[in-house]
Amino acid sequence: MPVPKRKNSKSRSDKRHANKGLKVKNPSVCQTCNSPIASHKACAECGYYKGVKVLRTKTDRMHDRGQIKKAQEDAKKATAPVVEAPAKEDKKD
Ligand SMILES: [Zn+2]
Repeated sequence: MPVPKRKNSKSRSDKRHANKGLKVKNPSVCQTCNSPIASHKACAECGYYKGVKVLRTKTDRMHDRGQIKKAQEDAKKATAPVVEAPAKEDKKD
């Protein structure tokens, strides 16, 4: 098992932990799908930037591979209410 050569100094750890609480300020909203995005970045959800398709999203790749139908069916199954058959009572006569 690899072992670190030196102890991490308090200063180094503290510098790393200083970024823990940072949050994205004023996230923009995608013009196409209205999901929150960082400004000046393409939308990861739909792949659009300023109304132009610039990214291939995970959904696009699944569509190309023909997996999108299967994924939709799986999603339907997951959300559909499960109808349980009534428990059969054992008749002991
Ligand atoms: Zn979008």
